[in-house]
Amino acid sequence: MEVAKLNDIIKSSKNILIASHVNPDGDTLGAMCGLYELIKLNFKKRCDMLAVSKIPDKFKFIPNIESAKHIDDFDKSREYDLVINVDVAALDRICDGITLFKKAKNRVNIDHHKTNNGYGDLNFVDGDASSASEVIYSIAKKLKWEINLKIATCLYAGILTDTGSFRFNNTTPRALEYAAEMIRMGIVPNDMFRSCYETYTKGMVLCQAYCVEKAVFLDDDKIVYTTVFRKDMEKYNTDEEFAEGLTERLRAVTSTQVAFVAKEMKNGGCKISMRSKSVDVAEICSVFGGGGHKHAAGCTLKCNVEEAIKKILHEIRKYEF
Ligand code: 5GP
Ligand code: MN
Repeated sequence: MEVAKLNDIIKSSKNILIASHVNPDGDTLGAMCGLYELIKLNFKKRCDMLAVSKIPDKFKFIPNIESAKHIDDFDKSREYDLVINVDVAALDRICDGITLFKKAKNRVNIDHHKTNNGYGDLNFVDGDASSASEVIYSIAKKLKWEINLKIATCLYAGILTDTGSFRFNNTTPRALEYAAEMIRMGIVPNDMFRSCYETYTKGMVLCQAYCVEKAVFLDDDKIVYTTVFRKDMEKYNTDEEFAEGLTERLRAVTSTQVAFVAKEMKNGGCKISMRSKSVDVAEICSVFGGGGHKHAAGCTLKCNVEEAIKKILHEIRKYEF
């Protein structure tokens, strides 16, 4: 059985690295910290944890997150016995971490993105799972690993955030059953909700309102997009974290079929965050080298925001809805 192989590899590895994706969300961080604690508890081993972007302040409540190190603080010549990527849909999502991944003796890929091509030596990719955190919980159960409240806190955070608080269509009976088991272990849903969603500063809420206000509705309001410029964030004294949930806000309009946010990147490129009700936006984003899920996907274009919007609209309009 594949999971038994994972157990054996962890057992025989002396140094292990767990890697999370760029612009980290609650799932990649919850899955990484949860797996860290699982390995600590069940194998008495300490792993390294890799972050390739700044970890949003609001995720500081996730147990063990303080042990994660930024890629710049890693010795790139280091050779790990085992690197485990969590929630990493494609290798380029760990940026410079690729060097560490490629050099490792064993490479494991734990994910739930349907667009994941199975780039690991050992792959646990379950496209029907709500989150990478759910995949890890299910592996832990199969291997009869001990699970404590710290682990449940990490993995519940991942399931909660990736299901949009148990609202998206990845909210399956299994995701809810696992969440129920975690609540029985002592997870308090309202505390988790507050930690994940009620941590905005005034500037963040006002900046989001400003970006909703300037949204552009097209094609009988079926397409809606808005822009986020560096100057907007400066004006409201906020960082990119304010945009969390912004694309979903635009999709909430009844007429909306496809919603996207075009964000100006520090280096001048443009990050697209796309949501839909039925169109496969992972397919649209993959045209630009991105990917994700059918109804939630993203990509980055190397041009300015205005040009990116033109290209994206052209691609969206190839679909009928
Ligand atoms: P978000 O819009 O919240 O950044 O991302 C939505 C979904 O699309 C997430 O599951 C995320 O992992 C995925 N995603 C976002 N950007 C990219 C990208 O550039 N490449 C790939 N492969 N997936 C992405
Ligand atoms: Mn995820």
